[in-house]
Amino acid sequence: MSKRDYYEVLGVGRDASEREIKKAYKRLAMKFHPDRNPGDAKAEASFKEVKEAYEILTDGDKKAAYDQFGHAGVDPNRQGGFGGGQGDFGDIFGDVFGDIFGGGRRGGGQRQAARGSDLRYNLELSLEEAVRGLTKEIRIPTLASCDSCNGSGAKKGTQATTCGTCHGQGQVQMRQGFFAVQQACPTCHGRGKIIKDPCNKCHGEGRVEKSKTLSVKIPAGVDTGDRIRLSGEGEAGEFGAPAGDLYVQVSVREHAIFVRDGNNLYCEVPISFSKAALGGEIEVPTLDGKVSLKIPTETQTGRMFRLRGKGVKSVRSHAVGDLMCKVVMETPVNLNERQKELLREFESTVNESKKHSPKADGFFDGVKKFFQDLNS
Ligand SMILES: [Zn+2]
Ligand SMILES: [Zn+2]
Repeated sequence: MSKRDYYEVLGVGRDASEREIKKAYKRLAMKFHPDRNPGDAKAEASFKEVKEAYEILTDGDKKAAYDQFGHAGVDPNRQGGFGGGQGDFGDIFGDVFGDIFGGGRRGGGQRQAARGSDLRYNLELSLEEAVRGLTKEIRIPTLASCDSCNGSGAKKGTQATTCGTCHGQGQVQMRQGFFAVQQACPTCHGRGKIIKDPCNKCHGEGRVEKSKTLSVKIPAGVDTGDRIRLSGEGEAGEFGAPAGDLYVQVSVREHAIFVRDGNNLYCEVPISFSKAALGGEIEVPTLDGKVSLKIPTETQTGRMFRLRGKGVKSVRSHAVGDLMCKVVMETPVNLNERQKELLREFESTVNESKKHSPKADGFFDGVKKFFQDLNS
């Protein structure tokens, strides 16, 4: 038997004040009171109906629940009633939406359990490792599917049940005035499932914290900022949902000799004053060992030499970069008397003519002109 509307029972409008409700109750309670209607079952039923309507409509919380959800919101026969334990609260909603919003449910299928999170692992490589590529073992802390319950969260031999409140959707609709709003289901906290007997190992989460070791193949030529995606190696999904991905973020450490710019490598090589002047061969480092480089006569300090193909092989194409060697002339130190004597002798010959110092000549000419201009 479906219940009559409480307002209708009391014969008042939905916007009736508490005073009007009390007044209506008094009048009807007197009319149907068992003392006044002895043996009249119908009157007794009416009296109970009026009393119940009065009790609900004069209790602020219950009235609000009734206004929002109707009888299901305040059903006194329901264990716990409105505002009871969460389970009861949930059951009420289940009923409400079964009745009022029946057919209006989204989809009807089960809510999809959340996919696992993507993980990021910062991998630091030496320049040599980055250039040549390698297989690296990495250990990552992650949430893995619980092997005791196969990710279900339910104790071995038991099963998670579909949440009766949201019928597995994880969300319920709430009425707020004229609007219906979606909320996470209060019974199952959005999971759509109820686990009565949680797995001991994962405490019903379906996932456990684990660290796993992975062999990651780093291709030759990677550089800082590159990342390698390992599909499905991220965190396990909720309750057997697909795992996330693992992103290995590469950063390359600074190198003692080489600076990398894209596929090119740069380095500085010191040369002696006499070798720069006379020319000859010097040894320069490459990632594959030393090679010799021919230095022409009259090489100025700072001159850049390009060694083709001695750079880095691109990770994205077959292009190979170059090694750029900058020669830097060193002033000789710790000279003995004989060496100093030779240099003095050399210096005296150089002083006789200006033509040996192309930069200085131009420079001093410029300085001279600068002072002349100042004085004029
Ligand atoms: Zn488990
Ligand atoms: Zn639910």
